[in-house]
Amino acid sequence: MIDFSNFYHLIAKNHLSHWLECLPAQLSHWQQTSLHGQFSSWVKILENLPDINPTQLDLKNGVIANHKPELSNGEKARIQNILKLFMPWRKGPFSLYGVEIDTEWRSDWKWDRVLPHISPLEGRTVLDVGCGSGYHMWRMVGEGAQLVVGIDPTQLFLCQFEAIRKLLGNDQRAHLLPLGIEQLPELKAFDTVFSMGVLYHRRSPLDHLWQLKNQLVSGGELVLESLVIEGDEYQCLIPGERYAQMRNVYFIPSAKMLKVWLEKCGFIDVRIVDHAATTLDEQRRTEWMQHESLIDFLHPDDNSKTIEGYPAPLRAVLIARKP
Ligand code: SAH
Repeated sequence: MIDFSNFYHLIAKNHLSHWLECLPAQLSHWQQTSLHGQFSSWVKILENLPDINPTQLDLKNGVIANHKPELSNGEKARIQNILKLFMPWRKGPFSLYGVEIDTEWRSDWKWDRVLPHISPLEGRTVLDVGCGSGYHMWRMVGEGAQLVVGIDPTQLFLCQFEAIRKLLGNDQRAHLLPLGIEQLPELKAFDTVFSMGVLYHRRSPLDHLWQLKNQLVSGGELVLESLVIEGDEYQCLIPGERYAQMRNVYFIPSAKMLKVWLEKCGFIDVRIVDHAATTLDEQRRTEWMQHESLIDFLHPDDNSKTIEGYPAPLRAVLIARKP
């Protein structure tokens, strides 16, 4: 079983302690009622990973762990074979003792677009909503965050995160909880909240922004990254059944409309800091993610459109502050 008691002990002593009023009950209910059919076999696989402490750990330029003396080819192959059991790997890449997890997404490129615009993370308590495998959480630790909490309801991603944690020497500076944003109480305790790649999956995007605001301390910073369309503050796309083959896409506003939404929800100092079209180099099929990827979701005759004929994925980063 995944054991959350380290996290409970950690927050018992800090300004997140009020979360303990509901969190242990919520997670034990989750363990009793909601486990994925393969979850217990994933947990057993995790136990087979070696306990290892990196002699070199670089979370500033990537998620890169190394050991001197180097692992033998047999040890490397064993780690690689175990990690492959957690495929598909979507968010990364990770470089662990010579094993290169080449994920579907170059999540490091997103981080490079976001990092120059945010308040320094040194010493901050951070929440990453929809954190996936936790790639960006380790990069936040690398920027000096004191504690990074990620939430993501997808259980395979929790197992991927725990695998990486173990290979980083059981690092306790980041923790992933298998919860959706709607399950969080109003913690008002995080200095920075990230929501990247989640907003367009929410049926009520303004409620999502309110929920994010409720997690921030007064003066805290929201970092919001989402799919957007080109256009003025009156433009928003509500796709039909699918967008780029995804069924769960609800609202894709222009970045300017997203700014209006944030202001409507009471955020201040709202800035649009980046716009980027997703390229076929940023999201693609790899050895570690062998399903369809962006190339299959774009129109075969015109890569500026999705297969359904909508504008191809364009993403924006907005920064805002809670008063
Ligand atoms: N933040 C990462 C991953 C984005 S993918 C990045 O930007 O690269 C979107 C993630 O949101 C998925 O991992 C999915 O499991 C998660 N998610 C879906 N519903 C959610 C919810 N209600 N609350 C929080 N996360 C959610």
